[in-house]
Amino acid sequence: MTSALPNYDQAAAQVAAYAAALSRRKPASEHVELGQVSGRILAQPLLADCDQPPFARSTRDGYACRAAEASTHIPLAIAGAARAGDCPSGPLLPGAAWEIMTGAPVPSGADAVMMIEHVEVDGGAKARKVRLLPPRTVKPSENIVAQGEQAQAGDELLPAGTVLHFGQIALAAACGYSALEVFVRPRVAILTSGDELVSVGSTPAPGQIRNSNAPMLAALVAAAGGQPWVLPAAADNAQALDEALAQVTGADLLLISGGVSAGKFDLVEPALACIGARTHFTGVRIQPGKPTVFGELPRGASSPTLPFFGLPGNPVSSAVTFLLFAAPVLAALAGSRELLPRFCLARLAPPVGRHVKPDLTRFLPAFCDFSAIAGQAPQAAFVPWHGSGDLGALARSNCFLVVPEDAHSPEPGSLVRVLLP
Ligand code: AMP
Ligand code: MG
Repeated sequence: MTSALPNYDQAAAQVAAYAAALSRRKPASEHVELGQVSGRILAQPLLADCDQPPFARSTRDGYACRAAEASTHIPLAIAGAARAGDCPSGPLLPGAAWEIMTGAPVPSGADAVMMIEHVEVDGGAKARKVRLLPPRTVKPSENIVAQGEQAQAGDELLPAGTVLHFGQIALAAACGYSALEVFVRPRVAILTSGDELVSVGSTPAPGQIRNSNAPMLAALVAAAGGQPWVLPAAADNAQALDEALAQVTGADLLLISGGVSAGKFDLVEPALACIGARTHFTGVRIQPGKPTVFGELPRGASSPTLPFFGLPGNPVSSAVTFLLFAAPVLAALAGSRELLPRFCLARLAPPVGRHVKPDLTRFLPAFCDFSAIAGQAPQAAFVPWHGSGDLGALARSNCFLVVPEDAHSPEPGSLVRVLLP
């Protein structure tokens, strides 16, 4: 039956097409203080309030000059000084130079700045002169950023949909935004299921385990820009699942963990079918995560359908399938322009072992050392694991190494694809 299922590329393409359609809908937005916007998504373009930089600015400590004069190496009279914070002034008269500090406005008439390291200064306190040391010359605009060189007043600096990190926050601050209009985070219902689950604060009785997927998925959702809404775990019976599913209609995305395999008490799919679910796929040729389900639930004629993912309960499977399939849909619901999932290339470090599973693309817990030597790719190594329930292996990994379907075990030193969290 396996080959009737889509492979990873086919399932990913279905998810990407669905996410692309979703991203045409604009989420609601809210006004948030600049100090609180890290990780949020810009809802309106960020515009330059004035030219950037607002005045011609020196990028060096040195002497503002006329490049042509300075390059003749004649001594120039030091006729003034410009410090960061000074009002732009001038003019710089012929035969003169102004002392200038990094960040200071360049006096009118000057077209270059000689670096302090490249000059000699002579003469008494009253008649100091500066000379560019031969054979060095200076070109017009050297060490000066012209007014408006980076942006002009009114320019769009960032489009809506940009994820706000430190650089974007700095740019917003420079433009005078003390708050920004950002998209409201999508509400993601997290429904874990399983008779064996007890809460984190409880001591499991024989046969029981703590519900680790609920906080794990909440963390993944928050990191991907969603608002986690953790529901109480549901027991493995039709009534409990029906009751839980009846509560989630207000969510923007539904994640169900557990109960989607082929076992006798895997009742999630029948429960979803009962309330009219339409599925896009019910299984993917990947490992871990083969039983993953992707579909939509109806919510009445006037409301958009509720997308859902049924994620296999094993923690590594839940994490991998969230990153591969749920995260791109969540990013689209959040209004983000960033495409997910994220991959990079890394050099495989030993040991490698045998990882071939015919017909399945594998996403195996790995640790990638990103502090690579200059010019070299990051180094990734498989984390030894005991199957998709191995939480320790998951916690000791920082990525998942991709072994393509039907590929031979990758050789140490080969370039491999890595799925990033
Ligand atoms: P299932 O997908 O329901 O067949 O579960 C597969 C495996 O994952 C079983 O060993 C479950 O006990 C385990 N599991 C299911 N849900 C959770 C959860 N919320 N937290 C931790 N492990 C889980
Ligand atoms: Mg179960």
